[in-house]
Amino acid sequence: MPKINILPDILCNQIAAGEVVERPAAVVKELMENSVDAGSRTLVVRILDAGRREICVVDNGDGMSPDDALLAIERHATSKIRAVEDLQHIQSLGFRGEALPSIAAVSRFELLTRERQATAGTRLVIDGGVLRDVREIGCPAGTQICVRDLFFNVPARRKFLRSQDTEMAHISEQFLRLAMAHPHIHCQLQHQGRILHDLPQASNHLERAHRILGLELSDALQPFASDHPAVRAYGLIGPPELQRGSNQHFFVYVNGRPVWDRILYRAIMSAYDSLLPKGRYPTAVVFLEMDPELVDVNVHPTKREVRLRNPAPVMEALQKAVRGALQDMHRQRWQRPLASQSETLRPPRWQTVQEQDAPITVGAATGGLDGIAPTAVNLETVAPAAGPPDSPGTPTFPWLQSTHAASEEVSFAGLPILGQLASSYILLEAPDGLIIIDQHAAHERILYERLHAAAGASGEARQRLAHSVVLEFLPRQGALLQQWIEPLGELGYEIAPFGGNSFALHAVPASLAAHHPVELLRDLVETAQEDEAMPTRAALSDVLAKSAACRQAVKARQRLVREEILELLKDLDRTLLSSTCPHGRPLWWKLTHAEIARFFQRSQAPGSLHQPR
Ligand code: ADP
Ligand code: MG
Repeated sequence: MPKINILPDILCNQIAAGEVVERPAAVVKELMENSVDAGSRTLVVRILDAGRREICVVDNGDGMSPDDALLAIERHATSKIRAVEDLQHIQSLGFRGEALPSIAAVSRFELLTRERQATAGTRLVIDGGVLRDVREIGCPAGTQICVRDLFFNVPARRKFLRSQDTEMAHISEQFLRLAMAHPHIHCQLQHQGRILHDLPQASNHLERAHRILGLELSDALQPFASDHPAVRAYGLIGPPELQRGSNQHFFVYVNGRPVWDRILYRAIMSAYDSLLPKGRYPTAVVFLEMDPELVDVNVHPTKREVRLRNPAPVMEALQKAVRGALQDMHRQRWQRPLASQSETLRPPRWQTVQEQDAPITVGAATGGLDGIAPTAVNLETVAPAAGPPDSPGTPTFPWLQSTHAASEEVSFAGLPILGQLASSYILLEAPDGLIIIDQHAAHERILYERLHAAAGASGEARQRLAHSVVLEFLPRQGALLQQWIEPLGELGYEIAPFGGNSFALHAVPASLAAHHPVELLRDLVETAQEDEAMPTRAALSDVLAKSAACRQAVKARQRLVREEILELLKDLDRTLLSSTCPHGRPLWWKLTHAEIARFFQRSQAPGSLHQPR
């Protein structure tokens, strides 16, 4: 008897389910995608017990004929492609023909469907991959698929399901990610009969994004659009302060398909360059449209990654578009009129589900000054969704609450200087509060931007050293530098191997000539990590600018005279992106009159601070 068996279909489907149906949210994603592909105008997702008990997706799309309905549940059955060439220009979300049989293999599955012109519909029932019942039935046009008792026959999977809140958060996220890309479809998500999200038809993507992100949050976002031969990119870009430790507020789409693609992520995040610390994600909604032939979507079973046939121009165009949006945002920030009377930035809706079991403590619970620590500019710490909107210590967002009229130019240098705190912070009086600037972070940012500009302007200009310098490194470092000779050469460092792990340095970049270029090079090599073995020229230039800025910036605990403070403020005003230091820490923060009044438990409006109660 041969040792090799051909596996029965049911088993194949269960194996495929292992990849495609990771958790209830994956079922929601696959069913919603099918409804989108079927041209639906409304799409309702009903969930019981976070998807363990039931997931129903009801649409009013094309529906299926009785024969198609039976085929749809067969393995590798799809109406979306016919031949291998079709893989090159896929317009639909699905094409693998795997989802329905996989889901039906690990649940109790019921499908009701009717084509619009047909008089009767079809009902199919499948239990753990076994077809139990097929019959004609009267039902509305469109398709309804209910998936009950998910993983009832795969106990190992069932055990891996997390708490209801966690599973529901994943479902919400999938729902919103797909809904974001299809504004013309009315999408609704219900849990235990309650409506969690109701997104009526919107006329375009931006309108849908505003609806999903909530008015106040989307008010802080900058719309952008860029047309490049390689890619059309548009969407909304958030300021660096709206960063998070997860990609929850980071929506990226390629031709309408939500993707979690590292390369695309990196292109967008690199536009923030030094404005986001490592491991943080921006708040942004980015739609990319390109020739389907230039994208390979068939690289991942759940289609969350894509492969670009020619990534470089796409990356470059994308980075430029996002960078432009960030600069526009910065220019407008001071001039932005008060967005709304409310000073708080309410978290987007899905956080109320998301963070139910772990309410974050910035709100009323902490109160006092702790609650308004500078880290508050990170949205993650701002989620007291359930708390009253003006609980003490609710952080505020400078760009949302400038009280100046749109035309009025405001600058740091124009504000009265109150003094210096702990020889580290500059205190300014703003019309609506107290501004605290971290002097080291601010100066670092100024120098960094300046070095960047200089490097851009002088290009590869180099300055020859009067006497060549020989640098010695450890073996690992020597090996790294050996690989960097060329990109560093493009920046202006002329380096030649000098035997073993020694290198002779003959020239340095003109833009760094006044910034201890030799030490910078040494720092660069000595602090490099293994995984940075092949950085680009731009990345190297960035690291050099950062470290030069850091070396030279005024330190904390350094007394500054008034003139020095004023000089720094003027420079800061000239700096394009002045809200965070090059390492991504915030560099200034405003404590508003209202916050001060709240701390002292005064009920008066900010203007009446001086009147006794
Ligand atoms: P794929 O989406 O990759 O084609 P699926 O297993 O998800 O594979 O679906 C198989 C087929 O069933 C689809 O190609 C489509 O023809 C049909 N189908 C599935 N869901 C629906 C729906 N909601 N409305 C109409 N047709 C559907
Ligand atoms: Mg599908």
